[in-house]
Amino acid sequence: MVDWRIEKYCECQALGRMRDRLDRLYGPELGAKSFNRLVMLIGRYGVGEDAAPSGEKWSEKDALLISYGDMIQNGDYPLASLRCFMEDWLKDAFSMVHVLPFFPYSSDDGFSVIDYREVYPPLGKWRHIEELAGQFRLMVDLVLNHVSRSSEWFKDYVSYIAPGRHYFIEGDLSWDLSKVVRPRSSPLLTDVDTRGGKKHVWTTFSDDQIDLDFRNPWVLFEFLDILLLYIKSGAKIIRLDAIAYLWKEVGTSCIHLPQTHEVVKFLRDFFAIVSPDVLIITETNVPHEENISYFGEGDEADIVYQFTLPPLLMHGLQSGDATYLTNWAAELADPPVGCTFLNFTASHDGIGVRPLEGILPDRAIETLLQGIKMRGGKVSVKQNADGSNSPYELNITYVDALSDPVNEDEELHIARFLCSQAVPLALKGIPAVYFNSLVATRNDSRGVQRTGKPRAINRYRWQERELDKVLADNDSMGSKVFNSYLRMLRVRRGHKAFHPDGGQQVLKLGREVFGLVRRAPDRSETILALHNFRSSKVELALKPSDITRLPSKLGQDVLGKSEYDLSKPIVLEPYQVVWLRWGK
Ligand code: BGC
Repeated sequence: MVDWRIEKYCECQALGRMRDRLDRLYGPELGAKSFNRLVMLIGRYGVGEDAAPSGEKWSEKDALLISYGDMIQNGDYPLASLRCFMEDWLKDAFSMVHVLPFFPYSSDDGFSVIDYREVYPPLGKWRHIEELAGQFRLMVDLVLNHVSRSSEWFKDYVSYIAPGRHYFIEGDLSWDLSKVVRPRSSPLLTDVDTRGGKKHVWTTFSDDQIDLDFRNPWVLFEFLDILLLYIKSGAKIIRLDAIAYLWKEVGTSCIHLPQTHEVVKFLRDFFAIVSPDVLIITETNVPHEENISYFGEGDEADIVYQFTLPPLLMHGLQSGDATYLTNWAAELADPPVGCTFLNFTASHDGIGVRPLEGILPDRAIETLLQGIKMRGGKVSVKQNADGSNSPYELNITYVDALSDPVNEDEELHIARFLCSQAVPLALKGIPAVYFNSLVATRNDSRGVQRTGKPRAINRYRWQERELDKVLADNDSMGSKVFNSYLRMLRVRRGHKAFHPDGGQQVLKLGREVFGLVRRAPDRSETILALHNFRSSKVELALKPSDITRLPSKLGQDVLGKSEYDLSKPIVLEPYQVVWLRWGK
């Protein structure tokens, strides 16, 4: 029997689509049961057909800070310290904050969640999350591919207690798993002693992170309920962690399966009904074409990380050659209407190597890997289907990745790093900045030694007093980067040409300079952004074809305040960035 409340929602197209999606995922019988439960869930939360988005999804004013909940420590709740820091220093530079998983966890710095409904007590309480969400658009992780071995669900599985008993994938040692694609080298099946005997559960990431079985619709419903809690607590952007591996089908690659895309579309429809302002971002650190498949036809993720940018940009600035970056950016197709990229250079994870596949030749990738090692970084590997290993991510802070291992010159280093950080600010999309890039944190080799984890190299947590000292010292690298970075962010938000939905033309200016023209969606403003990728001065003579795209020959640099006459060669200082503006 279908619930009467369906009548109430029968006008709602998103709900109709969801019914079809449930049928496709679970078959007609279970699909109908699930739909009934869905309608009750939506009805219970008192949301529905009247919901409508409240305004623009994003604008040039948006920038995202990526931070751990305990990035700043001062004896108070770290979530409160983070909010105070953001309020004191960052409120006119950032509009959004991604607080990495803040739930009780057992490993992977938060990505092995024990309880999705609690805030990890040493970090703070739900009220601290709500306070942050009151001031910044809050991005929250939905770690849905796997759960901690210490979670109640898994404990119930081990004790054969429902519903957890049916939440995990029991493998068979005779299965052919040779095609499975995944980012780790640990065993895919993990032995576990249960009340029903020894079992082999599916573990994509580690033996502490047990994959959930989405073939069981009640697993999906657990997450719908959790999502409603996050939304109630102020979440406005939901990051679907490791989403590519969600659905498994023995005998396949178990990555990007059609059912996984169906679940993303289902969640998009779910938000359209329960909270239309909530955006989805998918996290899939894979080659570019695979990555952007999560835009679907504009019906999946609202935002996709631009995973190719960090390693490609790094290659460009290490080698002083912008060619590959230029060629790639020039070919970049616009995302579907209503979708955008998250442009970033660093996050809490390493810098993915796979997104370079087919974009940077193997020998250049090899040079990049060597360069990382020379600069104190590490290269982590993943296991391939044939049992061999290949580079997966580069573990290094972005600031160290752009140091010069031979001739250290701090001023040049800062300029090179800031040049790298300016590129995502200019490219079409929403820029995201990792806390440790903002304050130019160096490689935390001690952290790597202490934890034995290569990723710890870029996960330094700050004591507030230490951070204050760095920022108060005008001669420190941290404060120079911080102040210049904030300045660029503040200038950027005053220019409609940087609207994520505006136009973008990448100019082919040769090896030394990466350049692009951005235009406001209403064409009221144009900005030509130029980035010198060399450690020496460059004289750039723009071709007439480049200039004809611009409103006139005289452009005003909004970063440096000088006027440039583009009919004459422009001199760019080492790693200089200019944003030449035309408009009213
Ligand atoms: C996160 C990683 C994490 C992995 C497994 C990734 O998306 O960014 O930090 O190790 O998912 O949850």
